[in-house]
Amino acid sequence: AAAPPDTAPATATHCPYCALQCAMSLRPTPRERLPVAVAGRDFPTNRGGLCRKGWTAAELLATPDRLTSPLLRGDDGELRTVSWEDALDHVAARIAALRAESGPDAIGVFGGGGLTNEKAYQLGKFARIALRTSRIDYNGRFCMSSAAAAANRAFGIDRGLPFPLTDLDTAETILLLGSNVGDTMPPFVSHLQGARARGGLVVVDPRRSTTAALTADGAGLHLQPVPGADLPLLLGLIHVVIAERLYDEEYVGRRTTGFAALRRSVAAWWPERAAQATGVPADTIRSLSRRLATSGSTYILTGRGVEQHADGTDTATAAINLALLLGLPGTPGNGYGTLTGQGNGQGGREHGQKSDQLPGYRRIDDPAARAHVAAVWGVDPELIPGPGVPAVQLLRSCGRQGGIRALLVHGSNVVVSSPHVQSVRDALGRLDLLVVSDFVLSETARMADVVLPVLQWAEEEGTMTNLDGRVLRRRRAVPPPAGARSELWIMAELARRLDAPGTWDVEPSRVFDELARASAGGPADYSGLSHELLDAGEVAHWPYPADGESTPRMFAHRFAHPDGRARLVAVRAATRESPRGAQLSLITGRLLEHYQSGAQTRRVPELTEASAELVAQLHPATARDRGLRDGDRVRIENGRGSLEARVGVSGNIRPDTVFLPFHFPDDQSVNLLTDDRLDPVSSMPEFKHAVVDLTRVDRA
Ligand code: SF4
Repeated sequence: AAAPPDTAPATATHCPYCALQCAMSLRPTPRERLPVAVAGRDFPTNRGGLCRKGWTAAELLATPDRLTSPLLRGDDGELRTVSWEDALDHVAARIAALRAESGPDAIGVFGGGGLTNEKAYQLGKFARIALRTSRIDYNGRFCMSSAAAAANRAFGIDRGLPFPLTDLDTAETILLLGSNVGDTMPPFVSHLQGARARGGLVVVDPRRSTTAALTADGAGLHLQPVPGADLPLLLGLIHVVIAERLYDEEYVGRRTTGFAALRRSVAAWWPERAAQATGVPADTIRSLSRRLATSGSTYILTGRGVEQHADGTDTATAAINLALLLGLPGTPGNGYGTLTGQGNGQGGREHGQKSDQLPGYRRIDDPAARAHVAAVWGVDPELIPGPGVPAVQLLRSCGRQGGIRALLVHGSNVVVSSPHVQSVRDALGRLDLLVVSDFVLSETARMADVVLPVLQWAEEEGTMTNLDGRVLRRRRAVPPPAGARSELWIMAELARRLDAPGTWDVEPSRVFDELARASAGGPADYSGLSHELLDAGEVAHWPYPADGESTPRMFAHRFAHPDGRARLVAVRAATRESPRGAQLSLITGRLLEHYQSGAQTRRVPELTEASAELVAQLHPATARDRGLRDGDRVRIENGRGSLEARVGVSGNIRPDTVFLPFHFPDDQSVNLLTDDRLDPVSSMPEFKHAVVDLTRVDRA
């Protein structure tokens, strides 16, 4: 008989959604509709708090949409239930045939930043030595790639927050650019309260978001620049810091290189010019520069709002330049960091599912890294393909001459979340074979030739790496439904059918041990870690080498470049498309109730009821000028696409701007309008700014 709910042991795990990875307890409730009851668990990052998404996460385990059997598309175009044997035999046979016809790079793999470390690792290995393809990338390319590229360039290593999140608690000043933690990860806000109490929370956002509103009543300052003008704003701040000699000369001289070129590059960005480019008053730029330089404890943090642009790497670089000039990174009580978004956005980029990387966050074109990883995999280094192509190029090449003919998608809903999404839908429609592993029939799975039902968060064991580089245990609290399988098992079964070399474990703790060996000596070194150590309560920030210990704070003595110094990198502000006449700037973002493409949260009744349809936020003056009222329907369009949304009138947005959230699918996907122009360094698309026309369709 099942244990009564009030005495059954609880499972300690973490939330299935965002990178804060709030700690929670799952207590079995065998007599209830939902299989577990969720409670917040005390942990340094969330302090027992959960947001609405976390509290309702048990609904995912009971969703009526759950897939429990593989599906195969028949000649009549319908998806039908088949056995695992038939599904896997079909996939392996089609891959083998397409590979024989067109070569291994005709097979592509698209991973996700929500996969556990074990799955992300195994997916990179599976692509390289089972499929023998270089064509693997993942949706983190759409998330953290600009921040990662900037951090690697400046520091020689990339860990989102190179200090424990709790260090923010005692900050005097926090400059938060392009992040709305008040909605995306509400328990994070507790770490901003110290700065708020000192009047030192500075939020940069074109919208008066939930987070920007935290600056009210003397708690800080909200800067509301022209959308996409973050880089000129940062160049103006840097100009003042240098012109007024507010920078830390000793730190800059001892710990950085590149100051002379940086100084020349910002010489013309006097505050009045930056004000013209951004709409932020010159006096504000001056006073903020002085505040940042004189505050005893200063942190600069960036988020996707400033990073998801075609100049995102340079914008993040400018934020790092400012931090380095002020002597923040590696100095106790100060720092720079970027706030990872996806649940395993940090770990997802370390273990080899990125097109140019091997496990341990190593470059795939580094001969020593190839030799090390090949030895762990038990293959000749020559067998590991070279660099592939980033996500947008990979998706664009689907069905094209010389491009991808078969695509395997894991943990990603690309037909909702990709930029210029109609082009991606068209590209997937050209494939010979689309295989999607998911636990529900997501919009991408609906297009697939084969759908493979997999386990979800509370049904599986594994690890995740949160936004401050802490490796956490994800634990099984409920048995998976009969018919669903782990992705580790799917990869092992396909590898066997494809006569792949190497060994293919399906036990997460042993896959982790292999991952740890593969990471040894790399920047993201997990070699001192194991499930056992984590289960014993070890607080484990990477790097954690086998002969060392956890590294909560990085850069105390040196940066990761060979000379130990950080790089100041001169960057230029590019001109960008701006609205003309009646056009508006479109900006995109998240809502409290939803997560990413919404494939999960749109299946949680409470969240869907709270936020059921696409609402376009418009300023009252903009609405009045166009004869619009709250609740009217409007068409928003540009050269890439068109969608309809309901108007939500709000004084929280600039009059020249419209805001749309990106959680809605099909003809409500904001990515019908976004631009797939890419950052030249990170290949990040221009997600956060587009120019649109807006017309009324229907009266409320
Ligand atoms: Fe915490 Fe993020 Fe989950 Fe909300 S969605 S409970 S902030 S981990």
